[in-house]
This record gives sequence, structure tokens and C-alpha cells, in this order.
Amino acid sequence: MNINERRLVVVSNRLPIVIGQDEDRWTIGPGSGGLVTALAPVCRARHGLWIGWPGCGEGPPLDELFATFGAEQGYRLSAVPLSEEEEDRYYRGFSNEALWPLFHDLLGHCSFVRENWETYLEVNRRFAQVVAGEAQDNDFIWIHDYQLSMVGAQLRQMGLDQPLGFFLHIPFPSPDLLRRLPWNRELLKALLQYDLIGFQTVRDRRNFVNGVLALIPDVQVERRGRQHTRMRVGGRTVKVGHFPISIDFAEFNDLAKSEEVSDAAWYLHENLEGRQVVLGVDRLDYTKGIPQRFLAFERTLEKYPELRRNITLLQVVVPSRTQVPDYQNLKELLDQIAGRINARFGEPAWIPIHYVFRCLDRVQLLAHYRAAEIALVTPLRDGMNLVAKEYCASSVEANGVLILSEFAGAADQLGKNALLVNPYDLDATADALFRASQMPAEERRRRMVLLRGQVRRYDVHRWVRSFMSTLDGG
Ligand code: UDP
Repeated sequence: MNINERRLVVVSNRLPIVIGQDEDRWTIGPGSGGLVTALAPVCRARHGLWIGWPGCGEGPPLDELFATFGAEQGYRLSAVPLSEEEEDRYYRGFSNEALWPLFHDLLGHCSFVRENWETYLEVNRRFAQVVAGEAQDNDFIWIHDYQLSMVGAQLRQMGLDQPLGFFLHIPFPSPDLLRRLPWNRELLKALLQYDLIGFQTVRDRRNFVNGVLALIPDVQVERRGRQHTRMRVGGRTVKVGHFPISIDFAEFNDLAKSEEVSDAAWYLHENLEGRQVVLGVDRLDYTKGIPQRFLAFERTLEKYPELRRNITLLQVVVPSRTQVPDYQNLKELLDQIAGRINARFGEPAWIPIHYVFRCLDRVQLLAHYRAAEIALVTPLRDGMNLVAKEYCASSVEANGVLILSEFAGAADQLGKNALLVNPYDLDATADALFRASQMPAEERRRRMVLLRGQVRRYDVHRWVRSFMSTLDGG
């Protein structure tokens, strides 16, 4: 059966919804992430289903809310409830304190606790049970991200033989690092139960293939293609490909041009008194390299005194995982470094670092993108980094400069026309900032036009098509 004739079942840790309360009435609406934007139309066209954790307690009447959502959005939802303890061990403990740091090459942040691993397995089994309860013969089941790596293997054990796809949104570590995970073979064997495993970059895909060859006996590489590698595992063929995720270019481009965003961008720039604005936008996360970025900005002010008073770093940090101690420590560290730099260089009429700790709404976020002459996107490691792509799509006058970490997945596609930096190299980052601040208008334009063309061509809709057609094709 052709993949396009199959019903799509999407499985992700969180359901793509926002549940709220309007006086006494519960409300439900779609979430705002790129994944929802990309997959909702496909789910709708195929009368699909999205399965995940609703992320709320027992308060809201889920059955009723899901019925409303299905009628309005054209696809169904199904919830996998989790207890507080499960949430703590599966989500915080194993997903975010073992897999997340390990897969981002930050071994020092890892904690490997057997009970957390066991709960992770148990919760993955629960997800599989809900999927199996809903599954029909003509389904294509697409499972997302590191929280749910074992769901496919559980489904196979339950006897399901529908096509199963898995996409990893974060990086995949080298075999040397993967060896550190006490359950590395279980994880790899489970991943090999999918028909198609998708990664963000060629490097992640290569790391996975090399990890399998190093740690799992009796697996052969059948064919290495440009887009995917075929592996032979116990009589089955598994495809391993790379599919860089993206954004809805048109949505960002259109909204960035709107009067609302243009006005907000103008106002923001006025408030910063016409100085060059260098923008950072990140979730609070140690993978994002925010302390190093502050230090690189400090280095810039030391090395290039002519930039003092003429440049401002505007850093937006979105609160995240505030229950995890490493994240609380990071918040304190940022407060301290920004305070120190501002005290060292600040003057009554100039604050070097404007640092805000909150989530911006869409209009404000795009206004920040439009107002910034330079985007400083310097994660220590990142699966993709959508902020880099959103900045380009929102730079409707094609006058922004993107400074990008070579360790972001986005560097594969944007590296040629961004200024690439190693975020650990404070001097090189300072030099890139200086170069960006002095870059002639024609060069800014030439680079940004090419960056925008790249993001426009390889948008998130193409990402969905490319993943699904690889599963289908030879
Ligand atoms: N974002 C947002 N509001 C904000 C700041 C960021 O909605 O105030 C969104 C942003 O639009 C982007 C996402 O958060 O889509 C961050 O994605 P990215 O891939 O850069 O990093 P992640 O947080 O997924 O590691």
C-alpha cells in the first residue's frame, strides 16, 4: 500500500495542544510549534490521530475537550496519562538527565539511574499500548524523539506490523560517547525495529550507523545512498536517513512583514536608541552556550572598544525545565555574568546586555528578529536550531547577519552564508561579531538573500514529504 493512502498516526511525548480556562469553561486549541504546523495538515488530510501526554493533571475533562478539538481541527487526539512519579523518572530523570546531555555530547551533565531507565521502559510500553489500542491495518505510525525511542520495539512485540517511522529531533552521539550509556545495546536494538529512522544531519546518521556496527553483531550495511543507508537486520531492511527539520517559511515571512510586527520592531529599536542590536533567543538550557556567549560579548567589548556604546546584546531566555537542578544553576550563572559585565562596561546611557527571562509571543518574537542587525546563535550542540532559520525567514529586508555555531545542525545548510563560529572560542566569536558589525550593506544582503532562499526551498512541508516518501520508496 502506498504511504499516501495510509492513515497517519503521530506519537510524541506531548500532545500538540494548549488547554486553558476561560472563567468556568475549559478551552483547547492547537499548540504553536513547527512540528504541529507541519503535521497538522497531513493529519487532517488523512483523518489522522495524534497520541501523547496531555501535560495536565486530572482537572480538565479531556474526552469532552478532545471531541471539540477533533471537530474543529479535523484530526483526533488520544492521551497517555502519566503519574507524577512517572513524569519525574521518565521525563525529567531519564529523558532529560541521561539521554539529553549524552546526545548533546555533554557527559558531565549525565546521571544514569537504573530506576529511571526502568520507568522510561515502562512509560514507553504504556505509549505502545495506547498506540496498539488505536492502530488500524492501514496506518503509518510516526514516532517522535528521544523520549519515545523504545515504542517501536514494544509495538513489534505486541505483533504490530504496520510501517513504523522514528525521527530524532536532537543529535545522535558518536559511538565512543554512546558506549557510556549503560543500556546502549538495548537502545540501539530497539531503534532497529523501526522501518525508517530519521536524523537531522549526515553526521548524526553516520554516528548511528557506526554505533550499530560497533555494538550490535549481525547487522550489515546493504547500501549507502546519498539520502539514506539501508541496513540488514535479522532478515529485515531498515532505512537510516537524514532529514533536516525546518520551519514554515511563508508563515514567518508573511507575519514579519505585517504592520503589527513592523511597528513593534521599530519601537524596540527606538528604545535601544538606534544601536546595533545583537540578538540571542534560547530556551534556558546548558546546550545553548549562553554563558559562553555573554563572555564572548565581553571579549568583543574588550578587544574592540570602538563598539562600546554602539552595540547591545539583547538576550531572550525562555524558562524551561526549572525543576532540574542544572537548569536552576544555569539561571543563577547567567544573572551573575550579565550583572558583572553590565557593571564593568555599563554607563548611565548604555547597558551592554539586556537580558530578559520570559517567553515572547509571536509578534514580539518576530519583532525582535526584525529589529536585530545580528543574530548570535551559538549553541554548544543543537539538533537543528530553528531560531537560526526563523531569523532568516523574518529578515524581510535581507539586512541581518547570522552568526552560527558550527555545532548546530542548521550549520549544514546555512554555514556557507552565515558566519560560522566555534562557541567555545571566545576570541573567534568576538572577531565574528566585530566583522558582522562592520559588514557592508551589499554583503549582508547577498548573504541573507541566499540564506532566505535556502530556508524557503527546504521548508518544513518538504521535510514531511521527504521523510514519508523515503519510507515508501526503494
Ligand atoms: N520561541 C518562542 N518564544 C520565545 C522564544 C522562542 O516561541 O520567546 C520558539 C522559537 O520560535 C523556536 C523555538 O522556541 O521555534 C526554539 O526552537 P529551537 O530549535 O531553536 O530550540 P529548542 O528549544 O527546540 O531546543
